[in-house]
Amino acid sequence: MAKERPLPPGSTIGILGGGQLGRMTAMAAARLGYRVTVFAPELESVAGQVTAGHVKGDYDDKAALSRFASQVDVVTYEFENVPEAAVVECRRHTPVRPGIRPIHLAQHRLREKDFFRKCGIGTTDYQPVGSAAEARAATILPGFLKTCSEGYDGKFQAKVATRQGLLKAWRRFGRDCILEAPVDFLCEISAIVARGADGGTRCFPIGRNEHSDGILRATTVPSGLPPHTLREAERFGVKLAESLELVGLVALEMFVTRDGAVLANEMAPRPHNSGHWTIDACATSQFEQLVRAICGLPLGPVDMLAPARMENLIGDEVREWRKYLADPAARLHLYGKGKAHPGRKMGHVTFVSPWMP
Ligand code: AMP
Repeated sequence: MAKERPLPPGSTIGILGGGQLGRMTAMAAARLGYRVTVFAPELESVAGQVTAGHVKGDYDDKAALSRFASQVDVVTYEFENVPEAAVVECRRHTPVRPGIRPIHLAQHRLREKDFFRKCGIGTTDYQPVGSAAEARAATILPGFLKTCSEGYDGKFQAKVATRQGLLKAWRRFGRDCILEAPVDFLCEISAIVARGADGGTRCFPIGRNEHSDGILRATTVPSGLPPHTLREAERFGVKLAESLELVGLVALEMFVTRDGAVLANEMAPRPHNSGHWTIDACATSQFEQLVRAICGLPLGPVDMLAPARMENLIGDEVREWRKYLADPAARLHLYGKGKAHPGRKMGHVTFVSPWMP
């Protein structure tokens, strides 16, 4: 049953997922006087550490989902691989923002790229590879072979140079894939766009992203890219948010090619790692903007307050926390995670100008 909006402070926001994105959303929500209940499979999640409410349950546990959704006023999700059925179950009790369609698309790389094209958002060339016959007939070589679903942070993808390599990688993955033409990019960027309940949009200043092993290492704002490139990237981001008709946030990751073209790679309908700098160096953080959007409040200003560089603390890098505390330029954010496994995002640090290194 649909509930009235806007939702005033004091209302309860439900978050599907208990990771750091949920944690930082909950902290922004608390600042505006909202209560938060987290739904996560773990007994103690890093988001649940900072919220009053925590419902433990698996994403296919309808009874637990229904218990969760009936005690909150709006539901959002902090990861795009949340099963659609879980969102459907929540929606029986309360509005889910940004809704089902964004995750339906974001969970499948081929659907996602077809949607980009339909909206007039540029992409690299690609073709489906769903069978050995399609792999044998593929015309894009060399290319990046990626599974359509469940790949993230560079997992389930392979750079293939030959048809033999393509067949081998396809057999190894053993599921529907997309084959993409390699982009000779100058840099990677992302546009994070909020769309409010009234249909208005705001795009955060666009950051330049550095990856290694498929994982985001750092984001720098401003990006140093020419205004026409940034305008094109913003146009794509806004087009995406409007075409999805979402209420919430969407991050669009893009490549900037050496000849200045902007090509979309993938989207995430949630706060994004490349937007963490907004907590310390933007008039409104991406997390507060999500809260504003899903509660039907006016969107906040997105002016950059100071140049910034966000660096992820991955695995053992988190041990350096003392060093960052001693650095007047550094704003340290730790996620309260236990063990520092290799590749695990443990926290981040934002260097804010005028003290940027
Ligand atoms: P993804 O999982 O699609 O975000 O890919 C992870 C990283 O692999 C990207 O951030 C790029 O650095 C690289 N990558 C992915 N697809 C391509 C492509 N078509 N051309 C060049 N590099 C790519």
